Amino acid sequence: KVRVRFAPSPTGALHIGGVRTALYNYLFAKAHGGDLLLRIEDTDSQRFVPGAEAYIIEALEWLGIRFDEGVSYGGDCGPYRQSERRDIYRKYVQELLDKGKAYIAFDTPEELEAKRRSVANFQYDATTRGSMRNSLSLPKDEVESLLKAGTQYVVRFLIEPELEVEVDDMIRGRVTFNSSVLDDKVLYKSADDLPTYHLANIVDDHLMGISHVIRGEEWLPSSPLHVLLYRAFGWEETMPRFAHLALLLKPEGNGKLSKRDGDRLGFPVFPLRWVDPKTGEVSSGYRESGYLPEAVVNFVALLGWNPGNDHSEVMSLEELVQHFNIEKCSKAGAKFDYEKGKWFNHHYIQEASDDRLASLLRPYFDEAGYPFDAPRVARCVALVKERAQVLPELFEQIIYFFSAPTVYDEKTVSKRWKAESADQMRELSHLLLTLPEALPSEETEQAVKAWIEEKGYGLGAVMNCFRLALVGAAKGPHLFDISALLGREETLCRLARIIE
Ligand code: GLU
Repeated sequence: KVRVRFAPSPTGALHIGGVRTALYNYLFAKAHGGDLLLRIEDTDSQRFVPGAEAYIIEALEWLGIRFDEGVSYGGDCGPYRQSERRDIYRKYVQELLDKGKAYIAFDTPEELEAKRRSVANFQYDATTRGSMRNSLSLPKDEVESLLKAGTQYVVRFLIEPELEVEVDDMIRGRVTFNSSVLDDKVLYKSADDLPTYHLANIVDDHLMGISHVIRGEEWLPSSPLHVLLYRAFGWEETMPRFAHLALLLKPEGNGKLSKRDGDRLGFPVFPLRWVDPKTGEVSSGYRESGYLPEAVVNFVALLGWNPGNDHSEVMSLEELVQHFNIEKCSKAGAKFDYEKGKWFNHHYIQEASDDRLASLLRPYFDEAGYPFDAPRVARCVALVKERAQVLPELFEQIIYFFSAPTVYDEKTVSKRWKAESADQMRELSHLLLTLPEALPSEETEQAVKAWIEEKGYGLGAVMNCFRLALVGAAKGPHLFDISALLGREETLCRLARIIE
């Protein structure tokens, strides 16, 4: 059975690259009728950031990426938080030691540092381990007494040199490595009684029955090490297949997309707003910037994959599941085409129901202190949504329905407001008063146009001043739709105000 996992480390906010990894895992799992797991890899206490795990869970939930098992979902292979699996790892570390596939090393950080300074390109491996302080180089009784004395140690993986290690990657094909390039990786640290990422990752993928590992390209260099770990445990038969996703690049193509690019581009690279608990630095998120989750999902899915020429790029999560093919993912880095992201958001705003958009605008009303009337907001939204790319623009374009203009756009006033305008607006008010109260907008329009013609006024001149009275500027949708939505009383009030 296909079982894949998204295994973030809670070291900060989940950025767009992580969102893509999670999404591709989701699409792959669902396309194959498999399971998706959420595992939190928090064994590196130095890099742990409070709040990061909750952020990751909330962000993926907002995007509609649901898991079958994992942290906050539960399941039969738990616990899914690595810091809660110490006992399990201890046993496997011991197994490697017993099999002679790993050894204990006592070198202190200072000793290692001194070595690095004195030996160019120092690597802890078959060529150097004899000169270090470990259970392979020291007499047995010395090792025993060091352990008895409670000396801190690490367990290192014993890598045999000059082995050909092949990694079968679903995107890149066969990639071969020579084991001599690898160092004897630290698998466990006695200081925190926790394994490092590499050991925990392999043990968990094995115990959780993971069939495919889909992750970022930055892990490709570690993959031969992982293959060797599977071999050392004798788990090669059930070793997962790998897929390493190409990097995300800056829109200009010059280098890796960074966390800071979002605010530089005015287009977020995080799903939700994030405040770094250490520095207080704020990064904007798609949700708070007024993007719809389905737009973000569609945009992210196409960063490094596409459905082929004969299919539209506009796809719901279900359609993505139908068309996704991991083997078609690009080996080359994907440029972060954020203009396309904006285009998708505009598209999905048009697709969204007016009621849903209205409810999404609620926080903007609360913040501005306007009372929120959902059906009325929905009617306003219908009039203007065509022009909005993000929710704040949508809000901005309907504000005048909820608060009468108190200032009038100066340029429009100087260009359009003439000596006769006040009289014309007064006449218009009288006319509107003679019409039945809730007249459909087309009928009001007919009546007003007939009056203008009869009086021989300029159509543009009257309309522009009327718009100025209602909106405060020369913008907005069809004028009679605005007045119909405002209602007769409010329309008359706004005319009265501009006449003064
Ligand atoms: N914890 C690793 C990360 O944060 C997971 C790598 C993997 O998927 O193997 O990227």
